This record gives sequence, C-alpha cells and structure tokens, in this order.
Amino acid sequence: FKSGKYGPLVGAIDQGTSSTRFLIFASKTAELITYHQIPVKSVYPYEGWVEQDPKHIFNTVEQCISKVVTNLDTLEIDPSDIKAVGVSNQRETTIVWDKYTGEPLYNAIVWLDNRTEGTVERLTAKTPNKNKEYLKGKCGLPLSTYFSAVKLRWLFEHVPEVTQAVEEERCLFGTVDSWIIWNLTGGKNGGIHVTDVTNASRTMLMNIENLSWDPELCSFLQIPASILPEIRSSSEIYGTIAVGSLEGVPISGALGDQSAAMVGQMCFDFGKAKNTYGTGSFLLYNTGKQIVWSQHGLLTTVAYKLGPNKPTYYALEGSVAVAGACVTWLHNNLGILNSSGDIEKLAQTVSETSGMYFVPAFSGLYAPYWQSDARGIMIGLTHFTTKAHIARATLEAVCFQTKEIIDAMDMDCGVPLKQLQVDGGMTENNLLMQIQADLLGIPVVRSCMPETTALGAAMAAGVADGVNVWSLEPEDLSAIATDIFYPTIVEEEREERYQRWKEAVKRSMGWASV
Ligand code: ADP
Repeated sequence: FKSGKYGPLVGAIDQGTSSTRFLIFASKTAELITYHQIPVKSVYPYEGWVEQDPKHIFNTVEQCISKVVTNLDTLEIDPSDIKAVGVSNQRETTIVWDKYTGEPLYNAIVWLDNRTEGTVERLTAKTPNKNKEYLKGKCGLPLSTYFSAVKLRWLFEHVPEVTQAVEEERCLFGTVDSWIIWNLTGGKNGGIHVTDVTNASRTMLMNIENLSWDPELCSFLQIPASILPEIRSSSEIYGTIAVGSLEGVPISGALGDQSAAMVGQMCFDFGKAKNTYGTGSFLLYNTGKQIVWSQHGLLTTVAYKLGPNKPTYYALEGSVAVAGACVTWLHNNLGILNSSGDIEKLAQTVSETSGMYFVPAFSGLYAPYWQSDARGIMIGLTHFTTKAHIARATLEAVCFQTKEIIDAMDMDCGVPLKQLQVDGGMTENNLLMQIQADLLGIPVVRSCMPETTALGAAMAAGVADGVNVWSLEPEDLSAIATDIFYPTIVEEEREERYQRWKEAVKRSMGWASV
C-alpha cells in the first residue's frame, strides 16, 4: 500500500431519495478519489404513498462502503488513510425501529409521501383560527404532510405495532441520518441514537432558537420525547463505526442533504444561495446567524452548526416536491424516455412547448403555496402536442417553480439574487440550465464538481474536533471550476410565460378537494 498517497482521506455517505453513494475525498485538495453508487428502491403501495425499506437503505450503505474499500485496494491506497466519515441524507423521511431487535417497525415513510393529508387537516383544525402557520414561530415550518412529526403522528394512529413498542419503551424514532449512524455504531449492540441540528430542524419538534426538542411542539403533536434521538451539532465525533470494513473510523459529520450542499458549495456568507435539483429541488439562502421569518411561504431552517461551540447559521428555504421525480415519472409511468438522461435530447427536438404547461403537483404544491390538495395538470394540449413538448414542459416546470421561490426570497430578503449556484443530479442537463437562466434572467453557475452534497458531509466530518484533517478556508475550494449559463430571452417574453405558468398553477389547486 502507498499509505498517505493523498494525505488523510474523508469518506462521505450520501443517502439520497433515489440512490446511496459512498465517496472518498482527499482532505487537502477536496479531490474525489473514488466512489460507488447504488439505486434505492421506493415502493408506492397506494396513491400518494411513498415508502422505502429501512433495511434496504442501510444495506445499500454497507454495500457502497465495502465496494469503495475494494476500489481503494485496487488504487493501492490504504483504507486506514480514511480518518473520518460524514453522513448526508434525504431529510424528513421517517423511520421507527425496535431498539432491542434492531428491526424496523414499519417501512420508512419518504418525505414526499402525502398520506398524512387528513392528519394535517386534523392538526390544523386544532389550532386557533385553523392556522397552518401556528407552529411556525417555534419550528420555522408550516403544518404540512412533508415533515417527520406529522408522519410519526400517522404511524401512532395507524400502526398498532408502533404504539405498542412506544408503550413498552422499545421504540426509537429517527430520520435517515439517525438510522444509519445507529446501525453503523453497533445497532442493537450499543448503537448511538443521535441526529444533527439540520435534520432535527425538519421534524417540526425542534425549537429553532434553542435547538432542543420543544415540549410544546411535542405536546401539540403528541410525540413522546423518549423516542427522540439526542440533538448534536453537524460536526463532532458521534461515535465510531462498529461494523464492516471501516471498523474504528469515527463518524464525525451529519447534515441533511440540502445543508450539506450548502456547505459543499461554500455558501458561508449572508446572502449566498444554492439550488439543488434532485428528486425534489431545494433552494437555500444563507441568512447568517439571524433567524428570518418568511412572509412569502418559505421555510426557516437551520443551515448548519459546524461544532458544538460554533455558531448556528440559518437559512430561508424554498422546497419543490417534484423536480427530477417528474423526469423519473416520464420514464417509469409514461414510458416516453429510455432513461432520465434522455429527456434533454427529446426536449431539444422542439424549441418551445407551443403553449403547453405541465404543473407536476403530484404531492400537492410545496413552497410558496403549501397546497396539499393541488394535483398535477397538463394544460394547453392540442393535436400538435407531442412527447417532446411534454418533455420540454417538464423541464420548464422545474425552472418556473424555482423562479417562484426566488421571487419569494427576493421579497423576504429585500435584495434580489444576482446569480444562482446550482448542483444535484439534474444539473448535468444543459438544456435545463439554459431554460433556468432564461426564465430567471440571472446567470446560473454550475460547479464542475457535481458531488457538492457529499463534499459538504466530508468537510463537516473532516473539520470536527478530534479529527482536524480539513480546514474551511474558502481558497481551498476556490479553484473548483464552474460553467455559467447566461439568460438569452427578453424580459417581456419571460414575464409573459411566467404569467401563463402562474395561471396553470392556479388551475391545479384544490383539485383533490373537488
Ligand atoms: P436525489 O439526491 O434526490 O436522490 P439526484 O441528485 O441523484 O437525486 O438526482 C436524481 C434525479 O435527477 C432523478 O429524479 C432523475 O430522474 C433526475 N435526472 C437525472 N439525470 C437527469 C437529466 N440528465 N436530466 C433531467 N433529470 C435528470
């Protein structure tokens, strides 16, 4: 082995909605040395339900780690150069398990599952003036099917095994970070039950000012505090890996995927924003150490806290439920694409959608509307419409939804965004990037290092006290190249198409309640 060939290495588990990856970065240069990726299966038992098998999720993590260790062998790199591992994960997805057997008590309920519409209605009816924003002053979030506590409430009301396990003090709850860390640190044999502040801020149970589980939120949502993980910062040694080929390596970073992307894109200053286009799309705007309460439908969330004694940074967030998920839908459900990557070629065969708009409100609409009774619509269909128009309208939908969020952000912050930094699986699509720049009227800046989410998790793990193999000097990463897409259409056209889009959105609302 050529030990030390790249200096100390840091591993990053990137557990996303559609796949799991394990990546190895050189801490000195942020260079990606090797990685492995495995798709994650979702199941859709009923309309609107989206589940994943927690054991399958953890298996993909173990398999990716094991394959990467083999890759390192091939590269003649000593796996013991890996000094720490960080985790970034799909957020809000809710898992409950038995702490004595390690068995899940139900499938993971995935963030975009909307079975909890009735739960949300009932909870909203309990608030004075039936106000969806009743808890926002404490947790930064509106009552919505999206957040973990609402999914937990559903589990308590519908799955007797869960209620029974709570009564018998056997039940543990966690988002995907907690599930992975508990299993990697030994599971039923001494696994550590923790979460980080960014993941905790998506449950609706954490007070975002004092970063603790909030008794009033727990009581309103009727969640027993005994099942909740301990809340820790995003960068500290939580424990060491007790299973598999990386036994003994500390796990010292955890961030929800959107926060991880923010760290990976070095959005450390007030006013920096990034948009990640994956299954959904998520725009986060760094508001510094200050909590900003949105007046325009955005969420207030913890951006990161890189150490127990480091300051907490906050973000305004605009979340879009369906972005890449709609491309997957064209592939799986309509069969008009051979793969997600094919959409670019197909959409490029037409220069416009010929007046057709597609609002993919499959799970209702998230920001800035928060309308769970919206449903998808295609409008403006004619004899002329082809699958190419549908493909193009799908890409436009992702971009229009982003525009709506940036408009809301500009209004909340009072300073218009000058350029948008982007990352995520969809951004390899150049046509999407060009349409986005056209519809926003500002440059779209794409990092040539696409794995910013994993990089963020690796950075958090590498800077942790007791690991200290990474420094967060911006110049470390300033050398990373970018592609820039500039707007090419005039304001008049942009505005006209945007108004048509908004009209289409209006027509999608309320459909599930009719
Ligand atoms: P996640 O982190 O949510 O698992 P990724 O960042 O891995 O997601 O992106 C995967 C999503 O991007 C899928 O929904 C897929 O359909 C979509 N996607 C992948 N490649 C392309 C492409 N070339 N054009 C448009 N969408 C794409």
